[in-house]
Amino acid sequence: MAGTHAGTRTDTHCPYCAFQCGMTLVREDACGEVRYTVAARDFPTNRGGLCRKGWTAADLLSAPDRLTTPLMRDSKDGPLRPASWNEALDRITDAIGRTQREHGPAAVGIFGGGGLTNEKSYMLGKFARVALRTPNIDYNGRFCMASAAAAGMKAFGIDRGLPFPLEDIGRAEVILLVGGNPAESLPVMMQYFEEQKRRGGRLIVVDPRVTPTAALADLHLQITPGTDAALGNALLNSVIRQGYLDLDFIGLRTVGFEQVRRTVGSYWPDRSERITGVPADRINEAARMLGTAGTAMVLTARGPEQQSSGVDNVLSFINLALALGKVGKPFCGFGTLTGQGNGQGGREHGQKADQLPGYRKLDNPEHRAHAASVWGVEEASLPGPGLSACELLAALGREEPGKPGIRVLLVMASNIAVSAPDAAQVRQGLRALDLLVVSDMFLSETAGMADVVLPIAQWAEEEGTMTNLEGRVQLRRRAKPAPDGVRTDLQVIKALADRLGRGAHFTDDAREAFGELRRASSGGLADYSGITWERVVAEDGVFWPCPDDAAGPAGTPRLFLDRFPTPDGRARFSPVGHRPPDEEPDQHYPLYLTTGRVLSQYQSGAQTRRVPALLEAEPEAFVEIHPGMARSFGIRNGDRVRLVTRRGDAVVKARLVTTIRMDTLFVPFHWGGAGCANLLTNAALDPVSRIPEFKVCAVRLERADLP
Ligand code: SF4
Repeated sequence: MAGTHAGTRTDTHCPYCAFQCGMTLVREDACGEVRYTVAARDFPTNRGGLCRKGWTAADLLSAPDRLTTPLMRDSKDGPLRPASWNEALDRITDAIGRTQREHGPAAVGIFGGGGLTNEKSYMLGKFARVALRTPNIDYNGRFCMASAAAAGMKAFGIDRGLPFPLEDIGRAEVILLVGGNPAESLPVMMQYFEEQKRRGGRLIVVDPRVTPTAALADLHLQITPGTDAALGNALLNSVIRQGYLDLDFIGLRTVGFEQVRRTVGSYWPDRSERITGVPADRINEAARMLGTAGTAMVLTARGPEQQSSGVDNVLSFINLALALGKVGKPFCGFGTLTGQGNGQGGREHGQKADQLPGYRKLDNPEHRAHAASVWGVEEASLPGPGLSACELLAALGREEPGKPGIRVLLVMASNIAVSAPDAAQVRQGLRALDLLVVSDMFLSETAGMADVVLPIAQWAEEEGTMTNLEGRVQLRRRAKPAPDGVRTDLQVIKALADRLGRGAHFTDDAREAFGELRRASSGGLADYSGITWERVVAEDGVFWPCPDDAAGPAGTPRLFLDRFPTPDGRARFSPVGHRPPDEEPDQHYPLYLTTGRVLSQYQSGAQTRRVPALLEAEPEAFVEIHPGMARSFGIRNGDRVRLVTRRGDAVVKARLVTTIRMDTLFVPFHWGGAGCANLLTNAALDPVSRIPEFKVCAVRLERADLP
């Protein structure tokens, strides 16, 4: 096994974001102690670059509070105590059996994560449908990628975050980036934007804040939170009036433009200015920059996507890219910036409540038959679509006639007590369960509430494939053994399936699981069938779709060059209008609240808060307030302030910045405790994607030293 000798170097990938930077993990033996450090690796995407999270990733492997034994609680109020694996697994399967006998299969739910490898995502989805026969599995990717995924499927017939390779970004003449801050969320990606600027390209950023990314922009549109579709429509209105439509592209490669033309006809930039807060001359200038560019890209991220109008918001910007004829051509395109480590692969293999592997649908008889044949079960035995993430969390412990309740929940790779919207409500649901099972490396806030905690291996202790934000399937190699007492997620799934009498359908070997995943995805939209394990190793990653019979040497880096994967090969325009967010400021909650990321933390912080250098850089939650607004409350920089919404309150440190709108507060979401941003956020859902509205709600600001 590689990586267990003095000076051994193992090429692998970062444990965090969707950029999945290549890195080398180095084992050093010094004075009888083994130490791991990270070294740069010249991988095609990050080209040797790493951000501070990547450079410090080895610290996770030696974190002092690593879990190495299962923990169990003998009563709801009792403490967690060490347990054997047999005791813990028996407790889980006893509870599953009892619950399903009394309440039916659907009373057991699974909550997965976008950080799981492709093999784990696949096996977890299969475990739900084959071993538990429950429809109720969803995952935390519903919180971030669901709107872009639904919009991509509708417009292009497929959902791949970037349908072009990263290198195209550096060659685009103009880029419109909507609601994304890669300088902090995907830091190594900035080299592509910097390259684009070095080549004379121009960057337009839409964001309510002057983020570090927006600070680099040639044009910043400082939008009112929750008005993205109005801005997208106003930009298209301006494109039409200034004569920048690509009528050849529209005529040959799309359908539905005339309806969109009528819809955006009322979104004059000067009228839209009243909705979006963006001056009409800036809207017209952005439209001119895009319309006169030879190559251009439109990229969205969580800003427009995490809203109750998330799908429509994204569609408005897809309409813009299509109308400009800037899709399906080199150095052009519409894309979305995936966030989580395996945010792309995690949504392709059946972790979603409505999907089977390869983006097949649970309500399509042919798709069900394909999955059933690969899994060796009767198609009729497979459950139908289940509850999406927030709906599943709302059903925890529920006992209402006619409404299904979840009584047992298995959580893998998620810290929902911190990361889910309206977190106080979610915690109440977790407490109401008959049994909460969490597998994790650390005692996260969610694991701390569990009845059973299973200690699992982490990134460098097991092998598996991850699919990055551009659809490139990559290998995370095992660089060191897991500590004694720890198992992999695949071993946990297999052991539970064994106890449930379904073990013959499962494997805990990642390579075998990947082979099965390839068969299950064959013929689907996300087709991995031509991507062998050996190819992933030999080629530094392979792009899907990659069918077994027609695979080129590198899969398919660029999609849509000749046709879109829709029945007629054409992309779809979709008429969409501005819908206000679920909550807007009023006399009781007079400001907008928006949430997001900081450079030195990742997701719920369950990992990065355990890395000393990252914790030191960003130790606690804070709120960004414009000094003008702070003055009117008598708040100084560093004061403790209380933020209050209709769902709860949080106490955080004030950070006075001129880079935010006067009417808006920003809180990062990486912390639990009193500063947990999601105690404030709104679980209002987009009607199509079921994504919650993390990006905008109404909030009241108070000094924390006043009663
Ligand atoms: Fe890791 Fe993302 Fe930073 Fe790369 S950009 S080192 S993948 S956190």
